[in-house]
Amino acid sequence: MTGRLVVVSNRIPTEAVPSGGLVVALHDALSEQGGLWIGAHPETGDPDAPFEEIGGAPYRRLAFRLSEADYENYYLGFANSVLWPLSHHRVDLVEINAAYTAAYLAVNRRLARRMAAILQPDDLVWIHDYHFLPLAAELRALGVGNRIGFFLHIPVPNITDLEVLPHPPDYAAWLAQYDLVGLQTRTDVARCLEIYRADPRAEFLPSCAVKFEDRVTRVQSFPIGIDVAAFRADALSAGSKGDGMEARANYVIGVDRLDYSKGLPNRFRAFERYLQDHGTGDRLSLVQIAPPTREAVDAYRRITADLEYIAGQVNGLYGAFDWSPIRFIHRPVPRDEIARLLRGAKACLVTSLADGMNLVAKEFVAAQDPDDPGVLILSRFAGAAEDMTDALLVNPYDHDAVAQAIDRAAHMSRDERLRRHAALTEVVERTDVRAWSRSFIDRLSRLEPGLLLRGRPLREALARFDRPSPPRALRLSTKPT
Ligand code: ADP
Repeated sequence: MTGRLVVVSNRIPTEAVPSGGLVVALHDALSEQGGLWIGAHPETGDPDAPFEEIGGAPYRRLAFRLSEADYENYYLGFANSVLWPLSHHRVDLVEINAAYTAAYLAVNRRLARRMAAILQPDDLVWIHDYHFLPLAAELRALGVGNRIGFFLHIPVPNITDLEVLPHPPDYAAWLAQYDLVGLQTRTDVARCLEIYRADPRAEFLPSCAVKFEDRVTRVQSFPIGIDVAAFRADALSAGSKGDGMEARANYVIGVDRLDYSKGLPNRFRAFERYLQDHGTGDRLSLVQIAPPTREAVDAYRRITADLEYIAGQVNGLYGAFDWSPIRFIHRPVPRDEIARLLRGAKACLVTSLADGMNLVAKEFVAAQDPDDPGVLILSRFAGAAEDMTDALLVNPYDHDAVAQAIDRAAHMSRDERLRRHAALTEVVERTDVRAWSRSFIDRLSRLEPGLLLRGRPLREALARFDRPSPPRALRLSTKPT
């Protein structure tokens, strides 16, 4: 493989030894290949200042600053109050505001200018997530012809929802400027292709490529995973921290950022339904760990109040002086402690209403004792459900069904738990985050950089574009959504 790897992500790790699955995988790839990691500095500052070097890594880390206004309008605004709700099928929460759109485009344009000045012709550029949808378009406008890949960590919006964007045709046009668009699931690929199918500027080519005006892009699923070995080690190493919850205790668990996409009020109501329908004899608790995020956005403040209300109501109605049905922990919990709590739970509730992948589902499986595993209850609307079909798959809107799944998990035979866990472990190991990053980089590096079809016979152009790749790499599907 030639050339440097240039990674762009919203956050850039600032510590010497990074932690967290995705960060570790990118750190490994950069350490191996050499290159740059570009991202927003965790603190706001002068947006026109040059990149700041963050030392301490075997590759260069370059941070740019967002101004306070950028943070408001680009990060909290367009990224998290337009693109996030849009992509999680919550158009009712989208806040259209001209200042958000302008800041989103301006931050991407500014970053593109800065990057264009330092990119070398054979650099392989890998851009991450919804904060940077237009970055390739801005780079192309500056004449950057490098191979540029994009991975979207969240779902692709439904085609009809795109109409809430200030300028809906942009979504397809932005993505088309990437040589490779990586998505979490085959369903996301189908959604993305549907957007192109409806766009008069797009044309489907052989070998599942999409020609958009004079460029060709590939859309392919690369389901992300976790750092399996590290998470297992965390689950085993952490000792009791005196919170009274010992291994395999009588609780089911949820671990989420406090986000409306995670379906937490539905989960609490489903747990209430479980208590109503199945009684309190089992003295099962729901432990919900959900630290606050993005509290500056209204929609996030509202869920906290909702959850506190439901937990109070359920505990008041069903609790006893020595037992609380819902234990709502509304603060950050260290990673090794989470791993240990996952290991000790009878079941994990991952009941998102929409989710790109949901790594907690994979972490729960990795954390289990293989001789006495707990049960994964997984929403059909989480990306993880596409491959983790041996979980108890549920419709998170159906409180009865979730309540039944909780009862079934709490009483499931050891044989069935072992069988389901073995099948899920196979999926979790196969999609380990290092294999994920390797397969994306490998696929991108095989593509011809900056292909322009104009003036070149189609067959010849495609032959150059589509060099052979290993058979498993192409997972494109037209499965209906
Ligand atoms: P999202 O990226 O939307 O937050 P994921 O489930 O894919 O959802 O990833 C969440 C990550 O954050 C997981 O690695 C999980 O362990 C971690 N996490 C979630 N909740 C907490 C928490 N309360 N404290 C610390 N880490 C958390």
